[in-house]
Amino acid sequence: MAQLDLVFQAQRVVTSAGEAARCVGVRGGVISAIEPLDHDLRGTRTVRLDDEVALLPGLVDTHVHVNEPGRTEWEGFASATRAAAAGGVTTILDMPLNSIPPTCTVRALGLKRAAAAGQCHVDVGFWGGAIPGNLEQLRGLHEAGVFGFKCFLLNSGVEEFPYLTAGELEEYLAVLSGFGALMIVHAEDSDVIERAPAPAGGRYADFLRSRPRAAENIAVANVIEAARHTGARVHVLHLSSSDAVPAIVSARRDGVQVTVETCPHYLFFDAELVPNGATQLKCCPPIREADNRQELWRALADGVIDCVVSDHSPSTVDRKCLDTGDFGTAWGGISSLQVGLSAVWTEAHARGFTLVDVVRWMADGPARIAGLRRKGRIELGAQADFCIFSPDQAYLVDPGRLHHRNPLTPYAGQTLAGVIRETWLRGEPVSGEQPTGRLISRAEP
Ligand SMILES: [Zn+2]
Repeated sequence: MAQLDLVFQAQRVVTSAGEAARCVGVRGGVISAIEPLDHDLRGTRTVRLDDEVALLPGLVDTHVHVNEPGRTEWEGFASATRAAAAGGVTTILDMPLNSIPPTCTVRALGLKRAAAAGQCHVDVGFWGGAIPGNLEQLRGLHEAGVFGFKCFLLNSGVEEFPYLTAGELEEYLAVLSGFGALMIVHAEDSDVIERAPAPAGGRYADFLRSRPRAAENIAVANVIEAARHTGARVHVLHLSSSDAVPAIVSARRDGVQVTVETCPHYLFFDAELVPNGATQLKCCPPIREADNRQELWRALADGVIDCVVSDHSPSTVDRKCLDTGDFGTAWGGISSLQVGLSAVWTEAHARGFTLVDVVRWMADGPARIAGLRRKGRIELGAQADFCIFSPDQAYLVDPGRLHHRNPLTPYAGQTLAGVIRETWLRGEPVSGEQPTGRLISRAEP
């Protein structure tokens, strides 16, 4: 057997199948050997981890808004991927909107890739956009390697990314099902939001009333029915309303191909505790009440929610309107890429979940949904992406130590459990200096 380039020896190697003491050997950036720890496997470089430290697969975050080109001052590829690496994330998939142009044509995808090239510290792939008028582009974008398509069912927050009507959604799904592509959906219903009181002022309770659970519940039901009718695969983004969970359970029982994600902030914060004017916590759909959060955790435990991804959606600090604290005018988006793992681990650990659960939700789960067969798991043939994680340590979130372009986050000042010690990409440590991330495409081996 040829020499291994690298071997990790660790008391705690975590995969979604379990945790065990293992030697993990890497050759050519790929996991090539997994043996019991007492086999004392060695490589050109051998790293023995401290016993309390866990070797996790690098996390896969399929919901990141990078915003470059066009709104690079909100977030760019260099800063986002540096933050990802610092947070134990080795693969991100970039959302098609908030950059200009949005990724709705093959040409725009080319601009995205050109903007990203040479400055990524972790691997980066792209979602395409589905907007009125770009039906003809979907096949080309699919063949150019996007991982699927994102659409909205209501105002997206940026004018260059309009939403699909119910009829358009079905039409687009029918096309996507023809080549097996995934549609990922921002599921809030436009009519329900229109009829709700408009958000204005600094009271969080008023903002919450402007984005009622019903908007999500109805939209999720509509997406399910459209998927049932067309046979397309759909994925519900950032589920916040736990009331929508039974509809998902029932659809799956019927064989509808629907997957679901939620985000760290819905699992960490409670509406009742959001101070008035705290617009750093504004996101859509909104953070809801404590009982709702409890139900989201239950849905994770039951396997109804497949994964937890950041929805890292920053803007410049001025757009968060912290000076006025007005939830009506503030940008809706939460910045959390670097701290997502610790935020989820803090709550998960307190609730009796293990690192095996967290890896299933934040590495293996998102990788599976995106079709990344060699990411997010420690197994033979997978890419040697790792997060070296110290679960028993804690830290205070200091915005000054975040690599996000705009270091504003609602986690500032929170003490979180779990310190990311190092991140490795394809068998090499990510230093934050020389960018070694690659641009990845769907259907790569
Ligand atoms: Zn988003």
